[in-house]
Amino acid sequence: MERTYLMVKPDGVQRGLVGQIISRFEQRGYKIVGLKMMQISREVAEKHYGEHVGKPFFQGLVDFITSGPVVAMVVEGKDVVSAAREMMGATNPLKAAPGTIRATFGVDVGRNVIHGSDSLESAQREIALFFRPEELVDYGRAIDSWIYE
Ligand code: GDP
Ligand code: MG
Repeated sequence: MERTYLMVKPDGVQRGLVGQIISRFEQRGYKIVGLKMMQISREVAEKHYGEHVGKPFFQGLVDFITSGPVVAMVVEGKDVVSAAREMMGATNPLKAAPGTIRATFGVDVGRNVIHGSDSLESAQREIALFFRPEELVDYGRAIDSWIYE
């Protein structure tokens, strides 16, 4: 089973979308194995978005992601890294497929409500950046056999 790192960004928290966003992953059958609210430091934000250093939107991105609390989570399940990206939709909400999280809740690329790891390698790096091992919980669910054959 894969794990991915998902984060409701400060706009999603301010707009009261945390519950609805978490619900989408729960309803699909994915399992939350880590969950917390926090405010990210600039240092961590710059590490997290390291691939974008030097791009014109980088400073604004770091300003924004550190501007208020985020809700960070680790979600586990079959093919969850790519499935979560599909559930989120394209980076630009105006280009995101209808029904995806970003298309449902967002308009601007700099206010696209959710982050999700883009590969298994990114997921491992981001999970380690935001969660200590003891903050992740291993547990089974009675409904698992109704979700996976
Ligand atoms: P993601 O993996 O879909 O989140 O997209 P990226 O990794 O390419 O970019 C990280 C985040 O930076 C995005 O979610 C956007 O919030 C923001 N971003 C990306 N491209 C742009 C851009 O061209 N302009 C602005 N203002 N923000 C951007
Ligand atoms: Mg990305």
